[in-house]
Amino acid sequence: MTKPILIAGPCSAETREQILETAAGLVVLNPDYFRAGIWKPRTRPGEFEGIGKDALPWMLEAKEKYGLKLATEVAKAEHVEAVLKAGFDMIWIGARSTANPFTVQDIADALAGVSIPVMVKNPTNPDLKLWLGAIERVEKAGIKELSAIHRGFSVYEKTKYRNKPNWQIPIALKQERKDIPLICDPSHITGKSELIQRIAQKAYDLKYDGLMIETHCNPLKAWTDARQQVTPAELDIILNCLEIRNREEFNSNELLSMREEINGIDDEIIRQLKERMQISAAIGKLKKKTKTAILQHSRWKELIEKNIERAKQSNLSHEFLDELYKLIHEESIRIQYQILSSKDE
Ligand code: PEP
Ligand code: MN
Repeated sequence: MTKPILIAGPCSAETREQILETAAGLVVLNPDYFRAGIWKPRTRPGEFEGIGKDALPWMLEAKEKYGLKLATEVAKAEHVEAVLKAGFDMIWIGARSTANPFTVQDIADALAGVSIPVMVKNPTNPDLKLWLGAIERVEKAGIKELSAIHRGFSVYEKTKYRNKPNWQIPIALKQERKDIPLICDPSHITGKSELIQRIAQKAYDLKYDGLMIETHCNPLKAWTDARQQVTPAELDIILNCLEIRNREEFNSNELLSMREEINGIDDEIIRQLKERMQISAAIGKLKKKTKTAILQHSRWKELIEKNIERAKQSNLSHEFLDELYKLIHEESIRIQYQILSSKDE
């Protein structure tokens, strides 16, 4: 991202004045696209679900007055038709739609024979194939200009972020589809305006190609996603504070030797894990002999509690240790289950 592609604008189009005021504030930042949600998929019924097609002329007025290119979310064939007819410049498929192949296919069918850039947000669940599949459906409809938007993934637990980034998924997507620009949406990842800068910087350091940031003339009064929107002036600060680090691959001797050191440590971690799993297998045999259940809650509780102390002592994050131990424990249980369900011995 020499200069990242910038897509900015409110979560939702609310009123003509709000659209024009936000567009007026943004024009000096020269965004590549001005975004606003016209149809809003909401989790619970009874909430504001977007103005609908009455908001189209407000967007067109912003385009005419400020020369901004327009982008919005489509979730149905009829949205595609309305937006194409109105002359929008780009559309995106939202996270909830990407999660449903029938919906994506309907949208793709409505796009057949049309040339408009399409962005595909990641599905709400952390499923790389579903994301790739949605991109492929749109591609098969003949769309040439495609990009992917990383907006994070839903989790049940309360975390610092509204949607967990799971950076490894967009990175894997980029590895598989180097041809497709990857855009980060720090607004929906963080859910909080004050965390946007940090995630935008991380995306920049990970060589993303662009940013989509929700921007509103008066975020506190926003009808949707008030907590995560920034003013155009705040967006200007966020963009100016982006530190441009060396993005080229560089291979100094110092870096190579540190990487060698890491490789050695990784070998040691694997060796230790193997040893740990061998002991788990021995415990599995013991449980089989004594007809004991595999999962013992008291032991799991003990493991998790130990992590509090370990986190303090090692300066590693508690969240990281818990995640790591969940994986290790799951694998131990799988190994023990195999032993318990085997017929021999
Ligand atoms: C949005 O961009 O306003 C939106 C609804 O995003 P998502 O599909 O990522 O929830
Ligand atoms: Mn939003």
